[in-house]
Amino acid sequence: MRDVTGSALPLLAVEEARRVAAGVGADLAVLLGDLETWVNADTPGGDIERLDRLAAVMAHTLDGYGLHPELVPVAGKGLYLHAVLEGSGRARVALLCHHDTVFPAGTAAAWPFRAGVERCHGPGVADMKGGIAVAAHAARLLALGPRPFARVELVSVSDEETRSGAPLTLDRLEGFDAVLCLECGRVDGSVVSARKGGRWFRIHALGRPAHAGVDPDGGRNAVLPLCHEALRLTELHHAREGLTFQVTELITPAGVNTVPGEAFLTGDLRGPTAADLDWAMEQVRALGHHPDVELREEDLGGPPPLERTPAVAALAGAAIELGAAIGHHFGESLTGGVSDGSWAAAAGIPTLDGLGPVGGDDHTPDEYVETPTFATRAGVVAGLVAAIDAGLLADAA
Ligand SMILES: [Zn+2]
Repeated sequence: MRDVTGSALPLLAVEEARRVAAGVGADLAVLLGDLETWVNADTPGGDIERLDRLAAVMAHTLDGYGLHPELVPVAGKGLYLHAVLEGSGRARVALLCHHDTVFPAGTAAAWPFRAGVERCHGPGVADMKGGIAVAAHAARLLALGPRPFARVELVSVSDEETRSGAPLTLDRLEGFDAVLCLECGRVDGSVVSARKGGRWFRIHALGRPAHAGVDPDGGRNAVLPLCHEALRLTELHHAREGLTFQVTELITPAGVNTVPGEAFLTGDLRGPTAADLDWAMEQVRALGHHPDVELREEDLGGPPPLERTPAVAALAGAAIELGAAIGHHFGESLTGGVSDGSWAAAAGIPTLDGLGPVGGDDHTPDEYVETPTFATRAGVVAGLVAAIDAGLLADAA
């Protein structure tokens, strides 16, 4: 739907962005009231009882906003919330959130939600209960308009901070046109159009132990080959653009007077594309020849990258344009951190992240979001839904 001038967002998308931003702004006290309730309910990862209680509270709120909430039990993880709003268009768009935080029970009592004209504070206000508030209130206003979409599905998972794999209900989003992930916007306001992926691995070395004083030549030192491997692997650091590598552990259980018969090292690779990470892992597996010491590589997996594909670039470009149209100016950025947006992207769904309110200092007592950006981000989210429905991603698919 975009012409070569690059400013051909459908009128309805801009109108929806304006209407929803204005509506959320006019009733900002309602959003802040919801957020206060959610932030003041501590939801540390793994505390199923607290997590489920908040999921039920949010489901009730979303029901009141015209969505159809479903609490989906996930083994060992508590309830995931899926809340659906149906429309008259074609696009299916997920608004991806999580309601677990890194803060232990009791944090909110000591340091409760505070709302100011410029900033809101409180545990998890940026990561990412503020993002849930943006999604919920964008959906509340979308329900009151022309509904240019087939399905908007707000998803809030209970285990983002503690899980190392994909969200466990991701298959429910199969065939969706896009995922909009509501982790907070970067400090400079930018949305996140790329996240690095990671790979972790361990290299085990098996030699032969011996007394370092009595029989030094009878041992086969397992640490020395790993030192050679560590130096070889360090060549991977910056070997490709954006690729980084660190040896993170080099460990032997042997004592100070023993030739170590066993040892291992671990490595941390990060890269912007799956191809870069696959290439780097091939280099990792090309272990050198070390007579008398057996080396074995163990793949520990890791999160996939969110790659800036043409579809992701189109989403980011539209978000930036929609923001500008409602007076909220920002750009796009790449980050090294991982979110559930990375897993959605790896499942093949065009994904844009960082659509939550602008904020920062996540996981610290200074965590904050910028109050005026609740309304403007909700407007951008709504405008994106309408733009996707109008065929934004048709050329980029
Ligand atoms: Zn988060």
